[in-house]
Amino acid sequence: MTRISVQQFIDKIEEKRSLKEPNRESYKEIYYIICSILNHYITSDWKQTDDQIRSSKVKQVYYISMEFLIGSLLKNNLLNYDLLTTCNDALTELGFDPEKVYKQEHDPGLGNGGLGRLAACFLDSMASLNYPGVGCGIRYRYGLFEQRIINGYQTEFPDDWLQQDYPWEIRKEQEAVIIEYGGKASLYENESGKLSCRYEGTEKVRAVPYDIPIVGFRNQFINALRLWSAEPIQELQQINQNDYYNHLEYERQVEQISGYLYPDDSSIAGKKLRLKQQYFLVSASLRQILNEYRQYHSSGYHLLYEKVVIQINDTHPSLAIPELMRILMDEEQYSWNDAWHIVTNLFAYTNHTIMSEALETWPVSMIKEIVPRLYMIIEEMNERFCQSIFYNYPDLRKEIPKLAIIADDQVHMARLAIIASFRINGVAKLHTEILKTKEMRTFHQIFPAKFQNKTNGISHRRWLLMTNPKLAKFISSMISPIWIDQPYELNQLLRYTKDKGILEELAAIKLANKQELAHYIHKNTGIMVDDHSIFDVQIKRLHEYKRQLLNVFHIIYLYKRVQENPQLNLMPRTFIFAAKAAPSYHLAKEIIKLIHTVADIVNNDPNIKDKIKVVFLENYNVSLAEKIIPAADVSEQISTASKEASGTGNMKMMMNGALTIGTLDGANIEMENLVGKHNMFIFGLRSEDVYQHYQSGNYRANEIFQTDQRIRFILNQLHDGLFHHSSFKDIYFQLLQTNDPYFILKDFDSYVEAQHLIDFTYRDQLKWQSKCLINIAHSGKFSSDRTINEYASAIWNIKQLN
Ligand SMILES: *Cc1c(COP(=O)(O)O)cnc(C)c1O
Repeated sequence: MTRISVQQFIDKIEEKRSLKEPNRESYKEIYYIICSILNHYITSDWKQTDDQIRSSKVKQVYYISMEFLIGSLLKNNLLNYDLLTTCNDALTELGFDPEKVYKQEHDPGLGNGGLGRLAACFLDSMASLNYPGVGCGIRYRYGLFEQRIINGYQTEFPDDWLQQDYPWEIRKEQEAVIIEYGGKASLYENESGKLSCRYEGTEKVRAVPYDIPIVGFRNQFINALRLWSAEPIQELQQINQNDYYNHLEYERQVEQISGYLYPDDSSIAGKKLRLKQQYFLVSASLRQILNEYRQYHSSGYHLLYEKVVIQINDTHPSLAIPELMRILMDEEQYSWNDAWHIVTNLFAYTNHTIMSEALETWPVSMIKEIVPRLYMIIEEMNERFCQSIFYNYPDLRKEIPKLAIIADDQVHMARLAIIASFRINGVAKLHTEILKTKEMRTFHQIFPAKFQNKTNGISHRRWLLMTNPKLAKFISSMISPIWIDQPYELNQLLRYTKDKGILEELAAIKLANKQELAHYIHKNTGIMVDDHSIFDVQIKRLHEYKRQLLNVFHIIYLYKRVQENPQLNLMPRTFIFAAKAAPSYHLAKEIIKLIHTVADIVNNDPNIKDKIKVVFLENYNVSLAEKIIPAADVSEQISTASKEASGTGNMKMMMNGALTIGTLDGANIEMENLVGKHNMFIFGLRSEDVYQHYQSGNYRANEIFQTDQRIRFILNQLHDGLFHHSSFKDIYFQLLQTNDPYFILKDFDSYVEAQHLIDFTYRDQLKWQSKCLINIAHSGKFSSDRTINEYASAIWNIKQLN
């Protein structure tokens, strides 16, 4: 590892510096200087890692994902090079505020939420554990929209993250590949009597890769995140006058392919462009994978799967399956059976959701238009699969319409992925069980050995060591820094759960983090919050199933109680929200407006004093999460049971010593198994109850509305009460007329009870902090290192390089 002194670091900075006074311009300059100092180390380590991987000819994993939410890299890279303290000291010496320098980096918002952040944590773990792995994604010109709140409403602005130079990417011009869309594909018999395919009139697009280094933790091991950018194939000057406007139109269309990220994470945007993006990603990535393989391995692809494994993150990249069939058959002359053998040993698929509206399907007509040859291949896959069910599983014949890849004029991507992948995994135990026994039951019957669980994880390096340095240092002082390499060792903290001095110190660290967040809140919203109040945090995408509404209802209920009894003995609380809503998701946006309306009324009511404060922090992204999480006392994980496949926000807050109020959903269940029910606040329906209600249809939201006065009060307030100046009628009607599909009214009572218990428990600070410590002590399981080791051994069959 590189060892340099603070003075040497200062010298390196001074060498490159032109602006001497710390001001706005010089902060930007210093930021780029630090990046270039690091990039110097990165370049040589990257080459060495590459050489090592190539010369050892080991198997590699390619992780293909439409989203990578990597967050800012400067601080993380400094940490991983063990230069963070040195750099902090050098910057301070030079009169700069280090955090302000790191803040110059614009988060690449190349993901919507959990799924993209998971991909980023996986890359971090792969590099840190010396696994050779490449991330493949799209270099969207605009990331997820920037959210600003205007008058309490979400307003979307373009996220122009490339406006300033992004110092971590390297354009690899010479590795560009060509992608073809549309046109006409026709089969014919070639000279040797084999069936071949001819393509006419396709539209060609160039895919240019940009590589971002993924720096391992203190191991000088560097993997690549390869992001593809779409560019026109012809330069303008070669075009004759008549084609000029056509060409401009073509350029415009090409730019759109990597133009922006779809801001919709759990329902498919039925857009051609999205389909084009998916094909662009998989076609370019496969070209690269095959090119690399060919450079270092003997002729032919029949053993490709011994050196390569491809993980597809949800179904979005599943067109890779027919695309590889196409390449192997049409370009490499493999027979169907030989190609199928290769393909079905190569791909593994991660399912992230069971919500039917999020299961991807594409209209047959659209697939035919955009990737006609792939459609022919999908049809053949479908035909062969249906035949095999018909003959080999006579009992399942009537199920065929529910299993077929093509049904009701739609191509069902999950079915395609299941049929062709050698492994399918869910992302938490409950989720995988639901896949096996309910949503994908018949597939599980047919392919029992394909299904596995891989409970999600988070990088404890980014989410604890980097973002909560005070807590990290304190943990190391108790149990040594061993937990950094072996997160399970956090377990050793269990020795201290009754140690008063330790628990007081833990409380002091939380308080200091809360003071920092309080400062940020004040600066950004003008709201003064009591840093001794309970910081109750719900930060995640805004979605009905995540039930921010349940949280808001509880706030309205508390507000009413204090109004009725200003002497009410309530522990002061600060409710903190951050969430983006998909721009077309009307109800989600209404809920954002509702949170702001409630905040306005509650925060400005003199009768409430400082008992309740409601804060909404705009533009939720990785950097904001890093500010909030170390300061959370309470972690809201309150999805309708069975709906949140795993969750990872829950893990981040647990690791930072927050206590969870949650349903028995996703990874919450595994958290509860570790810490026990007395160290969490569990409430509400269980997943079996939810399924039972759906099946029997015996839930009546209206009955609760009729019988529970609290609910009637809250809903009437929305309809025409306190908040009458805004129209929240849609929320009201959604709950009562569609029978409350997410069981908010049903779970309200037990949620209030759990919240009451939080209020009670918090009063005994030692007891509270002891529970926090127990949670931290058990959070090692949720390191993505554990997850990646499981993928590596049970799915990928890849090894750590020395
Ligand atoms: C962790 C994270 C998420 C996922 O949060 P959930 O609570 O699991 O939905 C989403 N967005 C960002 C920026 C994150 O860091």
